[in-house]
Amino acid sequence: MREVRIRDTLSGEPRAIDPTEEAGIYACGPTVYSRIHIGNARPYVVFSLLARFLRSEGYRTRLVVNVTDVNDKIYAAAARAGEPSAEFAAKMTAAYFEDTERLGLGRPDAEPLATETIAGIVALIEDLIASGHAYESGGDVYFRVRSFGAYGKLSNRRPEDMDQGEEAGSASLKENRLDFALWKAHKEGEDTHWDSPWGPGRPAWHIECSVMAEQELGASFAIHGGGSDLVFPHHENEIAQSEAVGRPFARIWMHNGMIESDAAKMSKSEGNIFQLSEALDRFGREAVVAYLISGHYRQPLAFGAEQMEQAVAQVERLRNFFREHPVREAGGVSAETPSCCSDETPPASRIESFREALADDFNTPRALAEVFGLVAEANREEVHGAPEAVLAMLEILGLSSLAKEKVHEGAAELKSQVVVQAHGEVLRPEDVLLAEREEARAARDFERADALRDRLAEMGWTVRDSADGPKLVPR
Ligand SMILES: [Zn+2]
Repeated sequence: MREVRIRDTLSGEPRAIDPTEEAGIYACGPTVYSRIHIGNARPYVVFSLLARFLRSEGYRTRLVVNVTDVNDKIYAAAARAGEPSAEFAAKMTAAYFEDTERLGLGRPDAEPLATETIAGIVALIEDLIASGHAYESGGDVYFRVRSFGAYGKLSNRRPEDMDQGEEAGSASLKENRLDFALWKAHKEGEDTHWDSPWGPGRPAWHIECSVMAEQELGASFAIHGGGSDLVFPHHENEIAQSEAVGRPFARIWMHNGMIESDAAKMSKSEGNIFQLSEALDRFGREAVVAYLISGHYRQPLAFGAEQMEQAVAQVERLRNFFREHPVREAGGVSAETPSCCSDETPPASRIESFREALADDFNTPRALAEVFGLVAEANREEVHGAPEAVLAMLEILGLSSLAKEKVHEGAAELKSQVVVQAHGEVLRPEDVLLAEREEARAARDFERADALRDRLAEMGWTVRDSADGPKLVPR
C-alpha cells in the first residue's frame, strides 16, 4: 500500500490519507432539477476513480454521493413542467442514476436522498438550537454564524464578500445577514413539506450533507469532495453545522475545478452535447471518461466539440493498440503488477510511475501520459508484457473495455474525413450517413435505408430511434 496524498483545500497542503482508518469519501452530488450535464459528471468520475484507485492500493474505501431532491430549483422546474415536485424529482433522480450508470464506473457505496434524511436533519437542527448555534424565526431556522469562531476558514473570505445567496425575503428574519437557513417554513405553492418542532417545512440545502456524511461515514472521515463552486457557501456551512456541535468532520477537503465552455458556442451547436446523456450517445463512454480525466482534477477543464474529438482520437488510439497487440493474460484491478512484468522491465516501471502519479494528488494527466508512453514504446518495437500492463493501468481508470471491444475496420480511416456542409457546419461521416438514412426513410426507400444502417454498423455505430429522432450510439 503506497502513501496517497491529496491537496487539502483547507490547509493548502498535501495531506496523506490515513491507511489505518477507513478511507471514507463524501462527495456532493447533483440537485436533480434537470438532466445532468458534463459539469456534474466531473466530480462523479473523479471521486469514483479515486475510490477505485484507493481500493486497488488496498485501502478500505467507502464512497458516498448524495442526491439533493428537495430544493427551490426543483419546485420551480416542476412547476414549469406542470408536474408535482416529488414526482418530478423522482423522475430526474432516476435519469441521473441512468446517465451515470452509463459511465460504466459502478455506483457509489451509498447514495442517500435528502427527502429520506429528514429525521436526522431535524435532530441536528435541534442540537444546534440547544447549543445556541441556531435560532427559530418565523417558522424558519437559521445558523448563527457569529457563534462559530472558525467560520470562513475554508474559503478565507472577508465577511463583506460573503453572500449566502438566499432569497431577499429571508433577510428580515435573520439576526445577521451572514446567517444561513437550516430549515424553511412551508410556503404557499410548495407541494411538499414535513412536520418539525418549528411547524411544517423542509430542509434548507447545506444541512443534509452534514447529516448524511455522519450517518454514512461517522463524525470524522477521510475526504470531503465536490466542485470548487461549493467551497462557499455550501462547504463552509457544512463545517459550521458539524463542528459547532463537536463533530470533527472531514480530514481532507478536495475540490475539482469547473468545466468551462464558450457561451456563444454552447447556445448553438454545443449546447446539446453538454448534456451527459447526449455526450455519451455521441462519443461513447470511454471518450467521455477520458475527456474528464484529461486535465488535473483541480484545474478548470475546457469543454467543446474539439476537446471531445481529441478524447475520441485518444480512445481510438488505445483500441488500435489492443487490436495490434492483443492481451495474452487477464489483467485486473490489483495492487500487484501483472505476472508478465513483475521485474524491472519497462512495463513494470510504467505501472509504478502511473500509480505514483495517482498517489501524488490524483494526477490523472500524468498517469495517462504513462499509459500513452508505453503504448508509443510498444508501437515502435515489441515490448514484452506491454498490452497486459496497459490494460492493468486502464482498469484503474475505468477504461479496460477498450481492450475487449470489437474493432470495426474502416472506422478509423473514415473518422479523419470530415465533411463540411454549405452552411459551414462540420459533420462527421457517420452523421452524413445518418442524415442520408433519414432521407431514404422519408422517401420510403427502405432498402437503401437498411443498407445505410448496415454501413453505419460496420463503422461501429448503432442507430437508435428515439422520440427526438434517430441517434448514433457506439456499438
Ligand atoms: Zn453537499
